[in-house]
Amino acid sequence: MGCLFCNIVSKKIPSAIVLENDHALAFRDINPVAPTHVLVVPKKHMTGIHDATPEDGEVLGAVLLAARQVAHDLGLEAGYRLVVNNGAEAGQSVFHLHVHVIAGRPLAWPPG
Ligand code: 5GP
Ligand code: ZN
Repeated sequence: MGCLFCNIVSKKIPSAIVLENDHALAFRDINPVAPTHVLVVPKKHMTGIHDATPEDGEVLGAVLLAARQVAHDLGLEAGYRLVVNNGAEAGQSVFHLHVHVIAGRPLAWPPG
């Protein structure tokens, strides 16, 4: 079985891909919480941000820049939110690092 998002990266499991580059893949969330809800993942498996090391800096930068590119490409100028849940108590349910790109409705602060 393995990691769900590794299987999406390798395209064993299909997804609605929005952007792909050497380091990152962006695809639509299967259960969107807003009109736009995209996930950006590193192609390299990393469990979560808490497990990242300084050696992961290039990949992490590429993931954030890919999220920014998604926001540009999808025309999210009105505003968007990037979310990284780390750990079950914070709501992480897939243990392959991902950045949520959420937009298309007013977003409350603080988050729940
Ligand atoms: P987390 O709760 O770990 O921060 O976010 C995991 C996200 O992955 C959730 O928003 C969930 O809807 C999404 N997700 C879970 N399984 C799949 C899947 O098979 N395909 C896609 N595209 N998204 C998924
Ligand atoms: Zn993985």
